[in-house]
Amino acid sequence: MNDSAPSKVVVVEDEPQMRRFLRASLGAHGYHPLEAGTAAEAIALITSHNPALILLDLGLPDADGIDLTRELRGWTRTPIIVISARGREDDKVEALDAGADDYLTKPFGVGELLARMRVALRHAASREGAGEAPPTLSLAGLEVDFTARTVRLDGEPRHLTPIEFKLLALLARHQGKVLTHRQILTEVWGPGYADQSHYVRVHMAELRKKIEREPARPRVVATEPGVGYRMRVEA
Ligand code: CA
Repeated sequence: MNDSAPSKVVVVEDEPQMRRFLRASLGAHGYHPLEAGTAAEAIALITSHNPALILLDLGLPDADGIDLTRELRGWTRTPIIVISARGREDDKVEALDAGADDYLTKPFGVGELLARMRVALRHAASREGAGEAPPTLSLAGLEVDFTARTVRLDGEPRHLTPIEFKLLALLARHQGKVLTHRQILTEVWGPGYADQSHYVRVHMAELRKKIEREPARPRVVATEPGVGYRMRVEA
């Protein structure tokens, strides 16, 4: 992001306090916030400004944020980060499956907001290219060469099954981003397996035994309770 003009971010949020917080945080870190309080205003702003990113509150006065996400995904791939109330795991999953890129749970800090935005913007930029898995990964003692298909933990070779390797490659391709159980199942096993959440749990447990120093305290792939998994950007 070396553009001279600050990246435009459309903030779709009806709560004045949260809007103030987002306006101040984005403005202070080189972004140009554009504010919408309703879904209708959001659509008008997004069509006229073509923003780099959208921050979207799920509870809007004139529409459901999940429906709005689906509608937006009909014509734009601009990254969407959903802002959700604590404890609404089902909403988060639905929003992600509808095409949102990530979510933030209220209350959140500026650091977390900026980190999630950087990941979403980086993925959007790399999508313009081939969208391939990174050739190598180095994280918490784990060294993976995706081209040679070799995996080492603290220098020791680890033998992954084809499914485990696919799972690891998928998470690496989306490093920093949360993936829902449904997204993982569809990508690794196929569309017919979207509801078999236990497949993911079983194979993730096996994968962690091979790629984590302490499988019970994972540093490479974090569990997002009730939602899915996220490969960390740093350990
Ligand atoms: Ca709201």
